[in-house]
Amino acid sequence: MRAVATPDLLTDAQQVLQRVFGYDSFRGSQQEIVEQVIGGGDALVLMPTGGGKSLCYQIPALVRPGVGVVVSPLIALMQDQVDALNELGVKAGFLNSTQTYEQRRRTEQAFATGELDLLYLAPERLNLDSTLELLGRGEVSLFAIDEAHCVAQWGHDFRPDYLNLSVLHERWPEVPRIALTATATPATRQEIATRLELTEARHFVSDFDRPNIQYRIVPKNDPRKQLLQFLRSEHAGDAGIVYRLSRAEVERTAEFLVANGIDALPYHAGLDKEVRARHQARFLREEGLVMVATIAFGMGIDKPDVRFVAHLDLPKSVEGYYQETGRAGRDGLPSTAWMAYGLQDVVQQRKLIDLSDGGEAHRRTLSRHLDSMLALCETVSCRRTQLLAYFGQDTPVACQNCDTCLSPPESWDGTVAAQKLLSTVVRLDRERNQRFGAGQVIDILRGKKTPKIEQFRHDSLSVFGVGADLSDNEWRSVIRQLLAQRLLSVEGDYGTLVLTESSGEVLRREDPRQVLLRTEPKRVASAPKAKTAKADPQEMPAEAEPVFQKLRAWRLATAREEGKAPFIIFH
Ligand code: ADP
Ligand code: MG
Repeated sequence: MRAVATPDLLTDAQQVLQRVFGYDSFRGSQQEIVEQVIGGGDALVLMPTGGGKSLCYQIPALVRPGVGVVVSPLIALMQDQVDALNELGVKAGFLNSTQTYEQRRRTEQAFATGELDLLYLAPERLNLDSTLELLGRGEVSLFAIDEAHCVAQWGHDFRPDYLNLSVLHERWPEVPRIALTATATPATRQEIATRLELTEARHFVSDFDRPNIQYRIVPKNDPRKQLLQFLRSEHAGDAGIVYRLSRAEVERTAEFLVANGIDALPYHAGLDKEVRARHQARFLREEGLVMVATIAFGMGIDKPDVRFVAHLDLPKSVEGYYQETGRAGRDGLPSTAWMAYGLQDVVQQRKLIDLSDGGEAHRRTLSRHLDSMLALCETVSCRRTQLLAYFGQDTPVACQNCDTCLSPPESWDGTVAAQKLLSTVVRLDRERNQRFGAGQVIDILRGKKTPKIEQFRHDSLSVFGVGADLSDNEWRSVIRQLLAQRLLSVEGDYGTLVLTESSGEVLRREDPRQVLLRTEPKRVASAPKAKTAKADPQEMPAEAEPVFQKLRAWRLATAREEGKAPFIIFH
């Protein structure tokens, strides 16, 4: 529904923009959004981080009669936001659990008497009848629901309190509502609209592209050293954020950077509130600080000159990744989103998913998120294109700025490698009733003479050594990509490799599915032509040959037993 605002109010909006906020003009779709809300209509705003969502509700709140009520989960930032508004002469207050009774009482009074322009509310306040009573005592000009993706139950940042937001609409059906978020796939957008009952709302979907951010993802081997090298060679003296999954790794990584002469601070939810506040303030005010943090850090942080965001562990979802990397380069200058990720990340994430409560459906959602993230990591095409496609945005051309554009990974026919690997997993399981993690499977494939693996050699496990043509790193890459393509899976505490429903398509003789794999960029540079494009007997280790005979016999027998097409191993 298109809302109509009177010309007077629109002039007011222009003037507020210039006189109060000191900006010359609206940006992107801000003006249209502001007009919609001033006119009393609802809006669902999807705009990337740093796009300028706040003005979209702040200006209408100043122009319309009454107080604009803003629901925001960013409790830690409310004081800062309100202080900044007060400095501009805007009368803003907030209500959250960090306040004293007296502070709350004063804010409530200011609201009721109409002294406020804007009232920020923590979502848990909506559980309290007293809050609803309070809102009933004053005049509300609009409801703004910031970080609206928090209402999406199966999104990546669900807050149960957000479900109570529908109360607002039921009580105050006349008051316009504006929901804002930086993370919304078409599915999440739909869920926000449904849950908030924004049936009549106009949707404003901005361009999600952040062309000044260069996306790069590298295989992880020694993450802290890789990070150090990245910082020293490309971002010496720059401010940036390094994300880690665990608090312990945050601490270790920050210490490591400091020991290597880099100004770094840790930030995670396990630190004292004062320490966190101090570190955040220093990051915002000082130049060239590196914040090593869990994802507890960053939502709502408005620092324009963050030059890089580095991930040393795999984010749980593409939405999370986009939001975290979006904190780089808000000033529009060139910035880097750099990630190191490895097999261990997949194992770890799967474990976390297995352990998570919330039921089977929830675990399936998490699993889908992880799959999309892996697909982005292992893509052979433009990362930006893939990222934007995830948000429902088509981009006609490759960006020429991400790592896959700048140093295109070659793809090679990895069917044979996949068959070797999957066969090994099958054989260990079926013949030995044993399941192994990636490390040991690789050792077996490569025929390593480690004590743990020796038994398989003497013991004539037929696949022993058939994968000596690829290096450890290459095998790890193969495994990661098979995981990303859902041709392989990991489970349990030790991250044992197991087949998936699709594995059979690769293993069966009839029309084996072709498995396209990417080479790592380094290999592209040194050896443009990938190895083992086709089954190549010359590349087989001599000890593998006698193995074939047995293998074929076994395969045929198994196949006959199961009435299925036989598995093929090499061709
Ligand atoms: P978001 O909530 O979308 O992440 P913010 O509302 O915090 O973004 O705005 C990001 C930055 O952009 C802020 O520093 C803000 O002052 C600035 N900004 C917003 N709108 C404009 C505009 N029309 N002109 C100039 N700067 C703007
Ligand atoms: Mg914001």
